[in-house]
Amino acid sequence: MKRILALVLTVIMGAALLTGCGSGGASSGGNAEQSTKEAAADIKTVTDGVLTMATNAYFPPYEYYEGSEIVGIDAEIAKAVADKLGLELQIQDMEFDSIITAVQTGKADMGLAGMTVTEERLKNINFSDSYATGIQAIVVKEDSDITGPDDLKGKKIGVQLSTTGDIYACGDFGEENVEKYNKGNDAILALASDKVDAVIIDNEPAKSYVAATKGLKVLDTEYVQEEYAACISKDNEALLTAVNGALAELKADGTLQAILDKYIQAD
Ligand code: GLN
Repeated sequence: MKRILALVLTVIMGAALLTGCGSGGASSGGNAEQSTKEAAADIKTVTDGVLTMATNAYFPPYEYYEGSEIVGIDAEIAKAVADKLGLELQIQDMEFDSIITAVQTGKADMGLAGMTVTEERLKNINFSDSYATGIQAIVVKEDSDITGPDDLKGKKIGVQLSTTGDIYACGDFGEENVEKYNKGNDAILALASDKVDAVIIDNEPAKSYVAATKGLKVLDTEYVQEEYAACISKDNEALLTAVNGALAELKADGTLQAILDKYIQAD
């Protein structure tokens, strides 16, 4: 059922992505930029002149540390959005599980964390238009006999706490079979040391973790397809409108695709 919902959302958000529709979606050059600038004038942020982004910086290639700096797709998109809105970007690193609360309680302006749009999350928070597609993938040991979701029944599955991988795995295979870790890579390390039989996690981080850990592989089967978007408080409609306007411009001028292409190689 959840997977059907995710699919429906994917189709809706995908259509929004393609047509650039949504509140700030006018893609007619000058007018769009004008309206984004006008929207930006009304924005209230946690700190004046600053766009504070909450993330969990252990999710390559979307966010990760390079030295002491947080880099990646989300960091670059947030910087491009902040530039459009005339704001300075500041990034706060926290557990993935804390991001929505931080945005709801006014500690951050938006969460950008490879976060999937779900019906459940939409009850508590707004999401911007989607900026990328995600896939929940299955990671196993190279010699595993698990070849797809059907083989996961009765197996121990590792996930990152409160992610969609966690939610789907509990729904499909039973909470008692799911081991939850704070960081995605901790789930991967548990797999490498045979504490779990498989890990359900977003495809791009999966590829990057597997490249860094011996003896693991990502299955070709896609478990669930999803849409990533920025989460913004339901009390800050002005910011939502402004971020959607900025995203529409970044889609229209090719910046968004260039950022994605810089970090994600076509298979
Ligand atoms: N896309 C997943 C989710 O939204 C995982 C995101 C993450 O771990 N940063 O739940």
